[in-house]
Amino acid sequence: MPDEHETVTGRCFVCKRVFTYDPDEVTTFLIDPETGLPPGFGVLGTMRPAGPEAVARSADQPLCPGCQAGAERYRDSMNPPPPSWEIWPPTGN
Ligand SMILES: [Zn+2]
Repeated sequence: MPDEHETVTGRCFVCKRVFTYDPDEVTTFLIDPETGLPPGFGVLGTMRPAGPEAVARSADQPLCPGCQAGAERYRDSMNPPPPSWEIWPPTGN
């Protein structure tokens, strides 16, 4: 069975760059077209409950490799390595 890589062309939802990607490999985000953000994200960066209608109108949007690298750096900076659990559970007295 040949290893076919079907690629599609899409627009990165962050930088709007058109790029070609493999739908099986690309990172996608569920984006609410009304806010341009994932459902549940407020435009001010606040979290709010994602209404079913927001989820229903949202669609997966591809993220280009450049923005994905940036997002990973951002995530890493926001999430330092998990703490070690050497002192957990507390031993108490
Ligand atoms: Zn991009």
